[in-house]
Amino acid sequence: MQIGVPTETLVGETRVALTPETAKKLKSQGHTVRVQAGAGLAASVTDEAYVAAGAEITDAAGALGSDLVLKVRSPSASELPSLKPGATVVGMLNPFDAEGLQQLAAAQLTSFALEAAPRTTRAQSMDVLSSQANIAGYKAVMMAADKYQRFFPMLMTAAGTVKAARVVILGVGVAGLQAIATAKRLGAVIEASDVRPSVKEQVESLGAKFIDVPYETDEEKEAAVGVGGYAKPMPQSWLDRQKAEVAKRVAQADVIISTALIPGRAAPTLITAEMVQSMKPGSVIVDIAAGKGPNGGGNCPLSEADKIVVKHGVTIIGETNLPALVAADASSLYARNVLDFLKLVLNKEGALHVDLEDDIVAACLMTQGGAVRRK
Ligand code: NAD
Repeated sequence: MQIGVPTETLVGETRVALTPETAKKLKSQGHTVRVQAGAGLAASVTDEAYVAAGAEITDAAGALGSDLVLKVRSPSASELPSLKPGATVVGMLNPFDAEGLQQLAAAQLTSFALEAAPRTTRAQSMDVLSSQANIAGYKAVMMAADKYQRFFPMLMTAAGTVKAARVVILGVGVAGLQAIATAKRLGAVIEASDVRPSVKEQVESLGAKFIDVPYETDEEKEAAVGVGGYAKPMPQSWLDRQKAEVAKRVAQADVIISTALIPGRAAPTLITAEMVQSMKPGSVIVDIAAGKGPNGGGNCPLSEADKIVVKHGVTIIGETNLPALVAADASSLYARNVLDFLKLVLNKEGALHVDLEDDIVAACLMTQGGAVRRK
C-alpha cells in the first residue's frame, strides 16, 4: 500500500501523523511511505530522519494522492481535490462535523475518525482523545504557571514565606487528571470538581481534594453515571448546587484549569462572569473548553478562542490546540495511535480490509462508498 503523509494545513497545527518510528514500522510491513517535504518540521522531525526510516520525500500532491493518507486534522477544501476517489483517510476527522463528513463522502473517500473509538481497554493504544488530552492537561498548567506572577510551591526563604498557589480543576477526565498531577508536581494545593462520582478516588489518589456535591434525586444519580465513561448533561438542580460550591473555590483560587466537556454538545458554563469578577487580580484561568461553549466561549463565557485576554484583572487563556504546543511528543503519541489503528484495517497482504464486526473499526468508520456511514 502507498501511504502518504501531507503537511497539515490548518493554522497552528504543528503535529504530524507519522514519525520516523512509525514510518520504519510501516516500511517493514512492506508499505511505501511518502512524506511531504517539511511535513514534520514544526514537530522537530526533519526530512532526513524520515528518509533514514525508509520513507520517500515528495510534494503535497504526491502525499495526498496516495492510497492511504494519514492526517492529524480533516482534509481542507484545498486538499480534498488532491485525494484520489477510493482512497482511505485516517485522522482526527471530527465525527460531529456532519458537513465535513458529507464532503469526505462526496469525494468518494473511505474515512476513519479516530476520536470515535470506544473508550475500551482494547482501544486504549489507539485512543487519540486520551493521548492528546493528557498533553493538553500538562500544557495548560505550564501556561498558567508562565502567566501567574507568583510561585506555585510554598517557599520558606530568608526573605519570608511564600504561600502555595491554590489551583482548582473543573472536569476531571484525562486532561483534568494530568492537570492535577502536573500542578501537584509544582507544589500547588489542588481542589477538583466533576459530575461523575467515580473520579473522586482518582482525584484523591493524586493528592488533590474532591469538591463533593451530593446527588439528591434518582435523576441526578442516574445522570452522574454518564454513558460509556463520558458525562451526560446534569439536571439543573445539581448544577445549581455545584455552581454554589465551585463559586466559593473560584473566589479563593489563584489558578483555574477548566476541561469540562460533554461529547457532541456545547461545553457547560462553570465559571460565570460574576465568578471571574470575584477572583483576585493576577489570577489565571486556562479554559481548555474555549471555543466549545455557548457563543464561542468555553467553560467560562469570557474566554475567547485562541486568545489570551485579561478580564477583571484575571488572565484568561483560550488556547484551543494545546497539544500542538507540545508538537514533538504529541506527534509521537498520535502516530503510535494511528499505527495501532492501522493494524485493524490493513490485512496481512497490506490491503484495506474494513471488518464491521470489529467494534473499533465500525465506530471509527465515517464514510465509505460515497456515503456517510457514521454509527
Ligand atoms: P471529556 O473530555 O469528554 O470531559 C472532560 C471531563 O469533564 C469529564 O470527566 C466529564 O465528566 C467532565 N464534565 C462534564 N460536565 C461537567 C460539569 N458540568 N462539571 C464538571 N465536570 C464536567 O472526558 P475524557 O477526558 O475524554 O474522559 C472521559 C472518560 O473516559 C473518563 O472517565 C476517562 O477516564 C475515561 N476513559 C476511559 C478509557 C478506557 O477505558 N480505555 C480511555 C480513556 C478515557
